[in-house]
Amino acid sequence: MYEVYALKYAERDTTKCQFFYREASHDPLTLHYFVWLILGGPHPVLVDTGFLEDDARARHIRNYVSPAAMVERAGIKRGDVPMALITHLHYDHWAGHSLFPEAQYWIQGEEVAFWTGPFGSTPAFRGSANVDALARLVSLNYANRIRVVEGDREVLPGIRVHRVGGHTAGLQIVSVKTARGTVVLTSDASHFYHNVETRQPVQIITSLPEMLTAFETIHELAGAEKLIVAGHDPQVADRFKRVDDGIVKIA
Ligand SMILES: [Zn+2]
Repeated sequence: MYEVYALKYAERDTTKCQFFYREASHDPLTLHYFVWLILGGPHPVLVDTGFLEDDARARHIRNYVSPAAMVERAGIKRGDVPMALITHLHYDHWAGHSLFPEAQYWIQGEEVAFWTGPFGSTPAFRGSANVDALARLVSLNYANRIRVVEGDREVLPGIRVHRVGGHTAGLQIVSVKTARGTVVLTSDASHFYHNVETRQPVQIITSLPEMLTAFETIHELAGAEKLIVAGHDPQVADRFKRVDDGIVKIA
């Protein structure tokens, strides 16, 4: 049976009105940045790769620890990760890929198409891009290290990716069967519990209907156990079990 861990590697302060869709409140809001680790299968599975120190500096992000250091704190060497499921290509999920030199990266085809197409460079979207990291999609693809996925797919028995879109063109979420029930790693389909629980979107959107549909998909996949892991919410540490500095065991 699988075990699932959330590994926090950074934090950033913003305000609710900067983040939630049509939100009036100026109250402060703190984001936590995570990668997720699935153990107990034939090999470790990483979900997302975080970013490097350059993005932490440029974006005034605090308490940065290399995501690879967090993976090693959880007991897995960075070179022992052969599979990384990439939920989407925003800098905070993709720019750290080089930290994991043996990984093959599973990404939705629509996500690759979006960031190599006409809209990624527009003011509406480019703030979420790390251009050098996106450029490496091509060289990695020719090195057979990009696995392009279309739609829903079982990647190992009991681990599935589900294309939901909404926040980005090819955003995928991950479900994992565990002894406690199905864990749903929402990534940025629900940055905070507030999103999925009140159905309030965030401001970075490619399709509002897809984002709203994704909230329902998350609830359906999670079922009665509600093992939902929001993508950037400090509450993850309160709702599940903190086992070490920055490490939360989900199941
Ligand atoms: Zn994110």
